[in-house]
Amino acid sequence: MRPVRFNIHPKEAEIADAISMAPAPDGIGGDGFFATQLSSVVGLARKNSLWPLPFATSCCGIEFMATMASHYDLSRFGSERVGFSPRQCDLLMVMGTIAKKMAPVLRQVYLQMAEPRWVIAVGACASSGGIFDTYSVLQGIDQVIPVDVYVPGCPPRPEAIIDGFMKIQDLVGQESIRRRNSDQYKDLLNSYGIQ
Ligand code: SF4
Repeated sequence: MRPVRFNIHPKEAEIADAISMAPAPDGIGGDGFFATQLSSVVGLARKNSLWPLPFATSCCGIEFMATMASHYDLSRFGSERVGFSPRQCDLLMVMGTIAKKMAPVLRQVYLQMAEPRWVIAVGACASSGGIFDTYSVLQGIDQVIPVDVYVPGCPPRPEAIIDGFMKIQDLVGQESIRRRNSDQYKDLLNSYGIQ
């Protein structure tokens, strides 16, 4: 029987040290007031409350499970609310081999997500088809939907997934609230045949 170990040497911890605060955006502050751009406040809120939709088809999905579990704990980034409803999520995380038959389904899920939405391709398969250079495998999800961040690796370690997630957070935090109405963004979607 394995011995049960109790924490017999508890450490005194200051709870305030364990709570991290999101840094305030650039602005002008004084006694009782703080002024900044609306975009910065919206970006701050969005980047710290991303709701991921895991589109996991194979082994990279297992790494994502590790990323969500207690050791790596994606909840620290405000993303514990993993959802399987495209209507409510704003970050599509594609993990695993995407067969060409699956591509229209992936695209449909993307289309069902409301703007603003972001996409992260996790692992070699989602990014480029990986080792599966075959007739049946999509050679990268960016053939059917736009991708914001690619995470390399086969599979990427949870640290790499977290790094990619933080890159998405940087993008989200700095994105202008008008970007989705810009001609450049419309051109990008049009290039994928999305109106
Ligand atoms: S990148 Fe490697 S680990 Fe990830 S789904 Fe493809 S084969 Fe599996």
